[in-house]
Amino acid sequence: MKIWVDRLLREGVVERGVLFEADAAGLVVSEDSAVDAPPDAASLDLATPGFANAHSHAFHRALRGRTHQSGSFWTWRELMYRAAGRLTPDSYRALAAAVFSEMVATGWTSVGEFHYVHHRPDGSAYPDHAMEIALADAAAEAGIRLVLLDTCYLAGGIGRPLSKEQTRFGDADVDEWLSRWRSLHEALDGRSPLVTLGAALHSVRAVPREALARVARELPSDIPLHIHLSEQPAENEDCVAAFGHTPTELLAAEGVLAPRLSVVHATHLTENDIRLLGEAGVHAVFCPTTEADLGDGIGPAIELMDAGVDIAIGSDQNAVIDPLLELRGLEAGERLRSLRRGRIAPERLWRIGSAHGYASLGLAAPARVSGPLDLVELDAGSLRTAGSRSEQLPLTATGADVRRTIVGGRVITHDQTSIAERLQRGITALFEEDR
Ligand SMILES: [Zn+2]
Repeated sequence: MKIWVDRLLREGVVERGVLFEADAAGLVVSEDSAVDAPPDAASLDLATPGFANAHSHAFHRALRGRTHQSGSFWTWRELMYRAAGRLTPDSYRALAAAVFSEMVATGWTSVGEFHYVHHRPDGSAYPDHAMEIALADAAAEAGIRLVLLDTCYLAGGIGRPLSKEQTRFGDADVDEWLSRWRSLHEALDGRSPLVTLGAALHSVRAVPREALARVARELPSDIPLHIHLSEQPAENEDCVAAFGHTPTELLAAEGVLAPRLSVVHATHLTENDIRLLGEAGVHAVFCPTTEADLGDGIGPAIELMDAGVDIAIGSDQNAVIDPLLELRGLEAGERLRSLRRGRIAPERLWRIGSAHGYASLGLAAPARVSGPLDLVELDAGSLRTAGSRSEQLPLTATGADVRRTIVGGRVITHDQTSIAERLQRGITALFEEDR
């Protein structure tokens, strides 16, 4: 497979006439620059390495435009549980394929799906990992690169059992989660070149202290591990009351902080938390459109970066699916917090959207030799982007400016009408009983 890019915009620098060649697995085997387009290559105008969505819950897309009456994060969660309670392997496969297609159409080339709807509503297991296979097949259908972050979810709060709505998220104990994870690892092996398995701990609310330590010790060390961290002040208060530690301090005490860890949100942190996360070299996944939508707050991105943490971005609840708006939201949060402009330089935003997100998911950087041939072609002459300098496009373009997406060397064009129809069908089916 050969892809030729007239103007390749990589980490803020434009290179002319770049030719990539990929092997059958979609990995870059060679790269040349300043060459003319060969006749056997697909040819792109202005392109940038693909964006990594390091945190998604695909089914939350069903709540978009249905939750704005009033309330808090916790009332939003009630509605989310209602949607989660109705998913089946078939309905989730169809909905997730449409959501993943929406991601590809807006420039996300890889996604870390933080997945906890594993079991039937009564808590019994589906045969043959049916829910996980549904997500893997949905990703293959949409053409997105998926790192399935199968999630350990054992408690309804610190020292509390799972509630009725949470029953299908749970495993009986950490041993059962570990053995299900190992069996899933075998089941996914060789299913699709786009799909790999990672892991997640839901949060310090949902995973008991001893289980945090067991997962950190027993999960193979090359597997990426994600956790929701300090999204809401209530989590910090509960954790300090139970253990005398902040959630970050608890993770440090139990040996969970390590370079393979990604902490999601990291919104309400102490100075000591930031120091611990930096020393451990974790990734932090910010989800600016979700954090704004849910009223979570603005996390200390600059302080984390200064401490040594690489930031990545995610669409989380998928009320917005647009990598460029997440990047802009990250910078906007910093400006609102500091009353200053130009907080995160554009070339750094490109890295945050792409290479850091891939690293957070345990993937090599895209559009580099031995990394995946994942690219996004952008329209630099649209209503939003006309006149912009290329390197500043994260502050002007949106997902609507994505022309074509390349994943593993395959060029994907987007039929927006068909994607929207599939989303409509999947969401209507989920909420049919409410009408
Ligand atoms: Zn989340």
